[in-house]
Amino acid sequence: MPYFDHAAATPVRLEVLEAIAPLFTTAYANPSAGHASGRSARAVLDNAREEIAQLLGAQPGEIIFTSGGTESDNWAIAGTLERGLREGLPRAVVSSIEHKAVLEPAERFQARGVSLVLVEPNDDGEVTAQALGALLDESVSLVSIMAANNELGVVNDLGAIAKTVRQRASRAVIHTDAVQVAPWLDLQAATAAVDLMTVSSHKLGGLKGTGVLLAKEGVRLDAFVLGGAQELGRRAGTQDAIGAMAMAVALRCAVRDREIDGARVAKLRHRFVQGLLALGATETVKAKHMLPGHAHVAFAGLATDELLVGFDRAGLAAAAGSSCASGATELSHVVAALGRDDDVAKGIVRFSLGRTTTNDDVTEALAIVEATVGRLGGIRLPEAARLLD
Ligand code: PLP
Repeated sequence: MPYFDHAAATPVRLEVLEAIAPLFTTAYANPSAGHASGRSARAVLDNAREEIAQLLGAQPGEIIFTSGGTESDNWAIAGTLERGLREGLPRAVVSSIEHKAVLEPAERFQARGVSLVLVEPNDDGEVTAQALGALLDESVSLVSIMAANNELGVVNDLGAIAKTVRQRASRAVIHTDAVQVAPWLDLQAATAAVDLMTVSSHKLGGLKGTGVLLAKEGVRLDAFVLGGAQELGRRAGTQDAIGAMAMAVALRCAVRDREIDGARVAKLRHRFVQGLLALGATETVKAKHMLPGHAHVAFAGLATDELLVGFDRAGLAAAAGSSCASGATELSHVVAALGRDDDVAKGIVRFSLGRTTTNDDVTEALAIVEATVGRLGGIRLPEAARLLD
């Protein structure tokens, strides 16, 4: 069964399972407890924090464990905007193609008086420093631009973006959602560029339900989850030492294998996309800098839902866009932001390859796509041609 939905969730790494299995009998205690068992769990948590900090190019005190990418994003936005309102900075600038975990909390603050400004991507799906720069001024409290888009796979130039923000909105906190880039790209440059960064464990081959909000020293952020003094009083709730260690091991393996895996997966993706193009599909974006595993294509004239159901019946896992929107009939906000024709956009599918994808998976997936598209009546070429205009 070819699995082409790694951007939604990728299998847990064997090394992670091996590393954490013994911990269920040695590090089960509450890391905040004052007894020896608690101290054992605390040691695991501390080691995980130190390793993640080192791999991300941060200090251990800058790593806050959360329940995942969604919470880290929610917190970065809400925590910064609360403070911005108190300090007389009413503007927030966010890209229109952020994950909903960024967009929805930002939208909620509009009722509280935040002026939310959306930066649109260019035709290639990239959010540029140039487009952002025109929207900045000294009343901006928050700029949140994702490191790479989860649907399109397009990578943004965070260095250039951060430079522009520092020049034009010097009081703004810069947040980036690095959930999709973490398995593939060096995050140390991103860490250096921003104030807050979101990372999620399960996209790396760790466990679901663990994430990090990297908050640089000196960045003041209102607490979001209340009810305890954990994480230096910044995030309440019993800490998950085993989940944290799973994330540390997953990140260590990702950093170690990144170059080899990235090159191998990019090659497979190339072969897969060439096969899709030969069947009449079109790539929706042609950005210079893409994540190695993403293939975002349009099957013009066909319905996304029909395609996904057809693929699924034949054993091929793919998605419409973000996983939460999978199977939904409405146009994704990311595709809508590209300003493409609705009919064409209906046949959009995100395939995402990952570390475990093989050449045989690509062969099998292409055969399933060909059979499914054929059964649905084929791609309507005039519409495909329109997309390329
Ligand atoms: N941000 C992006 C870009 C994502 O792709 C995802 C998950 O798909 C999230 C945030 C949410 O992360 P999590 O599943 O850890 O809550």
